[in-house]
Amino acid sequence: MKHIDTNNGFLEFHLKEKVLKGIFELGFNTPSPVQRDSIPLILEGHDLIAQAQTGTGKTAAFSIPILNMLKNNSEIEALIITPTRELAIQISDEIFKLGKFLRTKTICVYGGQSIKRQIELLSKKPQVMVATPGRLLDHLRNNRIKKFNPKIVVLDESDEMLDMGFLDSIEEIFRFIPRDRQTLLFSATMPTPIKNLANKILNNPKSVKITTTNVTNTDIEQKYYIINESERDSAITRLIDAITPQKSIIFTRMKKEADKLSHFLASKGYKAVSLHGDMEQRERRVAIKAFKENKAEILVATDVASRGLDISDVSHVFNYHMPLNPESYVHRIGRTGRAGKKGVAITLVTPLEFRDLKRIKDQINTSLELFELPNNYNTDDFVSTILDYKISSDSLDLYPILSSKIDNAQLICKLLSYLYDSLSGISKNKIKELQDSLDEVVKPAQKPRRRAKRGWI
Ligand code: ADP
Ligand code: MG
Repeated sequence: MKHIDTNNGFLEFHLKEKVLKGIFELGFNTPSPVQRDSIPLILEGHDLIAQAQTGTGKTAAFSIPILNMLKNNSEIEALIITPTRELAIQISDEIFKLGKFLRTKTICVYGGQSIKRQIELLSKKPQVMVATPGRLLDHLRNNRIKKFNPKIVVLDESDEMLDMGFLDSIEEIFRFIPRDRQTLLFSATMPTPIKNLANKILNNPKSVKITTTNVTNTDIEQKYYIINESERDSAITRLIDAITPQKSIIFTRMKKEADKLSHFLASKGYKAVSLHGDMEQRERRVAIKAFKENKAEILVATDVASRGLDISDVSHVFNYHMPLNPESYVHRIGRTGRAGKKGVAITLVTPLEFRDLKRIKDQINTSLELFELPNNYNTDDFVSTILDYKISSDSLDLYPILSSKIDNAQLICKLLSYLYDSLSGISKNKIKELQDSLDEVVKPAQKPRRRAKRGWI
């Protein structure tokens, strides 16, 4: 077991020794902002609405105080509702690790697993239940859970449950849970339907809102490349060939695009799989597993499908398209540079999308560096192509005109630059112009920039 460090930031919560040991075993030294603010409020027994970006440690923010408050009276004391099976497994795994010294029993309830098996597990008297809405509701409607009276109920990733259409199920689930309880709602964003839900199920809640994001995480290098619309696919393969990333996620806007790009990459011999909301749960699990186990090196994903997923060793994130808003940009690039590792976030941007890039850069006050796409031709091939090229009659007409105005060496260099620019899609001048516009001062009418704070991981 790890040595208990007297400087560990978690000591301030005066947790039980066994809970602290679990935290130290996991190697957590400093509470993340959402943990720092939420843990004391939960321990005091308040209902809570906590809003913080993905990847900021919300799971431990509720799991730690829950474990500390368990009474071990052989009933389900805590219920955590989360949108997907992957998240349910991830959460119960984290609770298992944190609760190792308490010997906490956790049951994971999700669709797809046999009901008989789940009833068997229920009879083992777990204290914590982690569940997806559909299967939980099925158990409740069929009265399969005896004496269901959890004292703490968590709604995890609430905005995603809304996106996945679970709101009605959630409301129905709460009709089965006695009011004598502490309710905690966690979400990355707070759309109105979630606020309304909070009003219905929470009782005089406290609020925690963490606005700083892990964008300022200095472990993530943020690069962008200016390309033409027609170049997206080739830009991706040229970059992958040049960088040879260990493990990368490419984000697309649409499900169709994710499939198309992953097929394109697979056809070129890259180990790519896609992940999006139209896939069956089983297919999604297979894709995530392949990626986690390094059988696939590239995961082509949409935002929604990848929400909340915690894959620790992603070296590169690519934005195939500009994300639609700053939240999405922050979430996407936060898939890399996790747990103290270095990461690179690469954004492809066309001149048309450039305004979106500037808006995102200004709103999250981050630094983005322009890079040039690697060549898509080989110098030797290029030289032999030029040497073998037939001279056209048009060129014979133009040559005397140009050579009367300019020295021959200069003329050749100009022509080569022109050729190069047309091959690379976008001219250097255009790129320079766009780059300058990115650093232009923001107009006074816009809201003041937030000061960057250092990230916690
Ligand atoms: P969220 O639910 O906010 O998206 P997670 O709970 O999945 O975030 O946490 C993201 C990652 O950060 C996980 O790998 C988790 O183990 C790690 N983590 C959480 N809290 C801490 C901490 N205090 N110190 C270091 N790593 C942490
Ligand atoms: Mg989470």
